[in-house]
Amino acid sequence: MAVPEQTPDHAYATLHIDLDALVANWRTIGAAVSPATAGAVVKADAYGLGAVPVTQALADAGCRHFFVAHLGEAEAIREAGILPPDAQLYILNGLMPGGEPACAAIGAVPVLNCLAQIEGWAAFARATGRTWRAALQVDTGMSRLGLSPDEVQTLIAQPQRLEGVEPVLLMSHLACADDPDAPANGSQLAAFERIGALFPGLPRSLDNSGGAMQRRPAHFDIARPGIALYGGAPHEHAVNPMRPVVTLDTRIVQLRTIPPGAGVGYGLSFVADRPTRIATIPVGYADGWPRHLSGKGSAFIAGHRAPIAGRVSMDSITLDVTDVPEEHLYPGAPVELLGPHQGIEDVARDAGTISYEILTRLGHRYARILHAAPQAAQQRRMAGRG
Ligand SMILES: *Cc1c(COP(=O)(O)O)cnc(C)c1O
Repeated sequence: MAVPEQTPDHAYATLHIDLDALVANWRTIGAAVSPATAGAVVKADAYGLGAVPVTQALADAGCRHFFVAHLGEAEAIREAGILPPDAQLYILNGLMPGGEPACAAIGAVPVLNCLAQIEGWAAFARATGRTWRAALQVDTGMSRLGLSPDEVQTLIAQPQRLEGVEPVLLMSHLACADDPDAPANGSQLAAFERIGALFPGLPRSLDNSGGAMQRRPAHFDIARPGIALYGGAPHEHAVNPMRPVVTLDTRIVQLRTIPPGAGVGYGLSFVADRPTRIATIPVGYADGWPRHLSGKGSAFIAGHRAPIAGRVSMDSITLDVTDVPEEHLYPGAPVELLGPHQGIEDVARDAGTISYEILTRLGHRYARILHAAPQAAQQRRMAGRG
């Protein structure tokens, strides 16, 4: 990993984001879906990592299809001025009524999920006297977003509903992609093939991370990976082939030794059963460290596991460091929350959630350091100047 561009000397906690690993993950997915192309899902601030630097790094690497969930997310990326002219920016949730002019103003492509969203976009086309591009999403079994089979029939029977709307992509979404053996994958795939035949020539996109990393003959035209780009596991019960993208370090703020019988933290839910060394770290649930880790999760100090003792507070966590060698324990000593000993999947498991939630909740109080090989950073600066 490259030398950081800045070292926040007094930071309580530092989030490192490895843009080279991000790009490597995007290339891994690209190879898995080839000859289809890999886009990137950068919704929710690129799963908490920062939509602008993530989009920029992937655009520099050649990614041309970016997916966000909300119009405001698309506007933020547009305003940053980082998208190449030939890049597409899709809004997965489509538009709320009245959002059409703002969407058109930034040249984003709404994903139209129902007949009402199609009518809103078509009405906007009539009002502006021109044609606007859109993606069409169909529901193939997840019952979340997308045209129902009946709505698809209506659309085929009444093609005038699409007047002024230029479909550029047909989409659907897999419900069980993280389990390659789930029968739903096959039935959704078949439904998508069937519906795709009704829209001849229209490029298609089905696969999220899990779908993209499933072995199968075809991945349609564009994959929409999110979590795997950011180092999350595409499949729940398999070895994770992705490179980790985030590491999170913090430091000890205070140390103490408590006698047997002394309690720790809110509710005194941890009670020492031996003379116990307690280290307090300045990260809490306000920083996205789940309160569900109370009494369950861990941190690592110089590679030694330090279990969380007691409840996670808003701004701090207490660790039982009794078994950590004393030379690693001092105010300011480094503590690993995410790194070589514990990844996002491990923390998610301890907290009873998924890595997506760990990432998207990462807080805004961390010092953030973006890592990229000097060469890539240099290319980016040149591109910015040009
Ligand atoms: C979030 C999302 C994705 C990305 O899913 P991952 O599991 O993170 O790869 C793809 N498509 C749609 C429609 C989504 O909502």
